[in-house]
Amino acid sequence: MNEEIYDVTIIGGGPAGLFAAFYSGMREMKTKIIEYLPYLGGKVPYFYPEKVIRDIGGIAQATGEEVTDQLVEQAMTFDPEVVLGEQVVDMERMDNGHFQLLSSNGNIHYSKTVILATGFGTLHSVKLDHPEAVYYEEKSLHYTVRKLADYYDQHVLISGGGNSAVDWALELENIAKSVTLIHRRNQFKGLESSVTKLKNSEVNVMTPYEIKALYGTDGQVEKVVLSHLEDETKEQALEIDRLVVNHGFQINLEPITSWGLEMIDGMIAVDSSMQTSVEGVFAIGDIAHYPDKLGLIAGAFNEGPIAANHAKKIADPEDPVQHLFSTNYAGFTDEE
Ligand SMILES: Cc1cc2nc3c(=O)[nH]c(=O)nc-3n(C[C@H](O)[C@H](O)[C@H](O)COP(=O)(O)OP(=O)(O)OC[C@H]3O[C@@H](n4cnc5c(N)ncnc54)[C@H](O)[C@@H]3O)c2cc1C
Repeated sequence: MNEEIYDVTIIGGGPAGLFAAFYSGMREMKTKIIEYLPYLGGKVPYFYPEKVIRDIGGIAQATGEEVTDQLVEQAMTFDPEVVLGEQVVDMERMDNGHFQLLSSNGNIHYSKTVILATGFGTLHSVKLDHPEAVYYEEKSLHYTVRKLADYYDQHVLISGGGNSAVDWALELENIAKSVTLIHRRNQFKGLESSVTKLKNSEVNVMTPYEIKALYGTDGQVEKVVLSHLEDETKEQALEIDRLVVNHGFQINLEPITSWGLEMIDGMIAVDSSMQTSVEGVFAIGDIAHYPDKLGLIAGAFNEGPIAANHAKKIADPEDPVQHLFSTNYAGFTDEE
């Protein structure tokens, strides 16, 4: 077992965790990021990689994917250890004051301090409730649209009745050969303006329908049979190339709520140093609660350095809590 001790371990590799990793590196802390998903970026690549973000200072506009790429590049500046595909399920303080973190796969990590950048917890898309779905997942059945270009000239079926389903139907209408949107109910829950736009669009809207059968080969879905929920004579078959399922998602914060941290409204209470009720454990980003908190990426970019500076003081008590400007830091290797 690897018993290497890190100065700071950041749980969660979303915007908050990534920027905190950059800043911890600049404070010359031995840094580790542990992320449940198989990739970094958190909610941004998960929910809106192709949407345009316009409220980060200094970036007039950039897609979720572009912002994520920059954040990851920046976070890797000081070579933090990155562990992907692991959910941290338990945290315990050991007799020597260090923390022991247990992952769901049994791995144990040791750290002098911990920064929780977990958002509202691990994200799980609600899967298509069909035994054959697993054969098509990731190849032609998707729970989120990662690259619009993959849908170019394709016959796309979207299943779902919320904002995501309606938004993707409208977005893909301009790219795909055809877009069909099905929903179990006759009403959509998307924003009123989007639903109105949908009504005026070329999207083939079918309600109340659900997927009854999937046909295809080697993970490529070719045909679906749709059953009408009120009239079985209206069953229809549809030839498709891609299926997008937007049946919502579940967020699991459960393990963290049992770690003895003070919680307020489902978030972790922090003081002005971003420290939680447990000394040496900090929280930043969406999960951190303090008066007048804004759940913005830009806010998380301030919280990470505050937490890292105070974590540094614990990991290395001789060091002062000091603020560094990157322009004054001499440790970058790419400077002339
Ligand atoms: C559709 C949508 C559009 C948005 N648009 C904007 C916008 O335009 N501008 C803006 O500023 N904000 C926007 N936001 C909000 C923004 O995405 C969040 O504020 C931001 O992602 C928060 O970053 P975070 O790092 O705190 O959390 P997250 O991005 O949620 O990342 C947390 C990460 O922690 C991981 N994790 C959780 N628990 C564990 C665990 N136990 N072990 C290991 N890993 C764990 C998760 O897998 C996740 O990857 C939007 C959000 C949504 C949903």
